[in-house]
Order: sequence, then C-alpha cells, then structure tokens
Amino acid sequence: MNQVLTGRFIKECRKGKGFTQEQLAEKLNISCKTVSKWECGNGFPEISLMLPLCAELGITVNELLSGCKISDEEYKIKAEENLISAVAERRENKKKMVLQILIAFSTVLSGCVMFLIAGLLQMPVGLRVALIIIGAVVAAVGIGVCCVLDRDTGYFQCPVCNETFIPSMSAYVAGVHTLTKRRLKCPRCGKVSFCKKKLGK
Ligand SMILES: [Zn+2]
Repeated sequence: MNQVLTGRFIKECRKGKGFTQEQLAEKLNISCKTVSKWECGNGFPEISLMLPLCAELGITVNELLSGCKISDEEYKIKAEENLISAVAERRENKKKMVLQILIAFSTVLSGCVMFLIAGLLQMPVGLRVALIIIGAVVAAVGIGVCCVLDRDTGYFQCPVCNETFIPSMSAYVAGVHTLTKRRLKCPRCGKVSFCKKKLGK
C-alpha cells in the first residue's frame, strides 16, 4: 500500500467522475479536508469508508489499495497463477505423503526382519545383540524421517479460527496426536486445540 499512489489515484478517479472534493466529501458524509488529505498522500481512507468511496469512484478495493486500475486480463492472470501454485503444492504434498508411507513401511519391515533373524536363527550372542540394535536404529531413523516429512507436508488447521500453519519441530514432536489430528498452539489466535492436517492452504 502506498498512500501517495492511492491519493493520486483517488484524485484522478474523482476528476474522471466530474466531482469536486466538496461533492465527494458530501456523498461520503465526511469533511472536505479529509478528501484533500487522502489526495495529498497524507492519510489513507478508513476501512469503513473504503467500500462507499470505491462505489462513488467506480473502482474496486483492490484498485484503491494498488493505486491504479487493474485490467480484467490482469485479474484473470493473477487468479490463475494462484490457482496453479495451489494445485502444484497439493500434488507435491501428495507425493511426500506416499514417500512417507513407503519409508514407514520399509523401515518397520526391515526392523522386524532383523528382530526375527536375531530371535530365530542360531548365532553368537554378539551378533544377535548387534542385529537387535541395528533393527532398533533403522526403525528409529525411519520414524524420525517420517516426522520431518509429516511436519513438512501440508498444514495444520486451527479449528477455532481456521488459520493454517506449519508448527515448529519441537511443538510438533511434543504435540499429543491421533492418526489425523495433533494438539498444537495456533500462531494466530493462540488457542491450543486438536488441529487437523490439510494438504493445501
Ligand atoms: Zn487459531
């Protein structure tokens, strides 16, 4: 937001509509000084005045904030860019989730195989202990990698204010969880609650 640009734009649009500063002020039930202040870039319209002001000037709030006209074409391009990045993010997150499941599955499996071999086959005690330790380490590393991937994949959504966020690793690890939810503190409203996992914002 740039007050000077927006001010210049308000002046331009007002003149385009053929209003004097007094006339515009009267329509909005404000003082002429306020309009003059905006136009000089010394103040920004209050939130409550934005919609009526835009209606009088025949512009959108987005244009008022940008301080210039935005063509339909630009609107479309911007909207499509946002859409594509949202879809790409979702796809990326799906891939990560599949990878996570694969890692979890293979590490648990190889851990189990090592435990089984250590338990069933005849071998020196040293080798048996080594196999059990390696099996445990493999399983632990797998779980660790899955935690990192899981925290990175998508967002958690606060059920109170619907904010989507990525928790810090320590908050993530400490958070009590079920299969689909995790108890986290929302960075926006500060409430601690069971947050659901979402793949996209
Ligand atoms: Zn919240």
